[in-house]
Amino acid sequence: MSVTTTLKTIQKYSNNGMDVVVNFSGGRYSLVLLHLALRALGKVKAVYVDTTISLPECNEFVEEICEAWGVELIVLKRKDVDFWDLVKRRGFPHHRFRWCMKEFKSVPLRLLSQSFDGELLHLVGTSKHESSFRKKVYDIRGMYHYNYSIRAFCLHPMLEWTENMVYKYLEYHNIPLNPCYEKYYNSGNCYYCPYVSSMLYYSKLASLQPKLFSKIVDAEKAMRNGGGAIYLGRGKVLHLSKLVSLSVPKNVKLPSCEKKAMAKTLYTCQKRCLM
Ligand code: SF4
Repeated sequence: MSVTTTLKTIQKYSNNGMDVVVNFSGGRYSLVLLHLALRALGKVKAVYVDTTISLPECNEFVEEICEAWGVELIVLKRKDVDFWDLVKRRGFPHHRFRWCMKEFKSVPLRLLSQSFDGELLHLVGTSKHESSFRKKVYDIRGMYHYNYSIRAFCLHPMLEWTENMVYKYLEYHNIPLNPCYEKYYNSGNCYYCPYVSSMLYYSKLASLQPKLFSKIVDAEKAMRNGGGAIYLGRGKVLHLSKLVSLSVPKNVKLPSCEKKAMAKTLYTCQKRCLM
C-alpha cells in the first residue's frame, strides 16, 4: 500500500461524522501513523495509554512529539489499580490469561469512548507483517471494524505496511525514533511483558532502571507457589529474580548483530496485542 493510498483511506473513513483519535504508543508504526494522520486530516488528537508500567523515556518521547507537532494529547492511565498489586493477587499475566491487556489498555480506552457523546473512531498502526497471528486475525477482521471491548470503531490503515516502509518513511521525513529502541530494544510501553523472555533485555532493564526491575523481582518473591515472571510454556517458568544473583554487568553492551536480533525478539511482545 502506498503513502497516497494510506492518506486517502484515512480521509475516507474519518469523514463520517465520528470523532477521530490516533492511538499513539510511542512505537514506530504509530509514530508514522500520527504523521500520516496529520497530513491527511490537518488536525488530530492522539491517545496514549500509559500502562502504569511504561518506561519514563517512552512517556517523555510521546509528550515531546505531540508538543513538537502541535497534536492534542490525551493520556489515559488507571489510577484505581496498581499493576504490581494485581500481579500479587492474580499471578503474572501469561499467554492464556493476559489480564494486563484488558485492565490497562481496554478499560481506559472503553472509558474514553464513554466520555464522547457520539461514536469514536480510533486510527491504529497495526501491520499484518508484524506477526502471523496478526495476519490471521486481520485477514478475517479486515481494516475497519467495531471493537466491542473498547466500544469504538477501529481503522487500521497500515495493515499492508512493512517494517522497511516504516523506516524509509521515518528517514525521509527526518522523524526521530523513540530512544527506548536504542536503549532497551523495544518501544517501552510496558517494561515487563509476559511475551518477552530475553534475559539480555531484562539485564538491560536491571542495569538502566534498577528500581523498576526490582518491582518484578519483588512480585516474584511474593508468589506463594514460587512462580516466575515469565511462563515459557510446557510447564517451564523463567525467574527474573535469579538474574540478580547472576552478577549482571552494569552496562551490557551488545554487538549490533545481537541488538538487531534482540529487537526482533522483543518486538513479539506487541505482536499479540490486538485492537
Ligand atoms: S505489551 Fe505485554 S504487558 Fe503490555 S499489555 Fe500487552 S501483553 Fe500486557
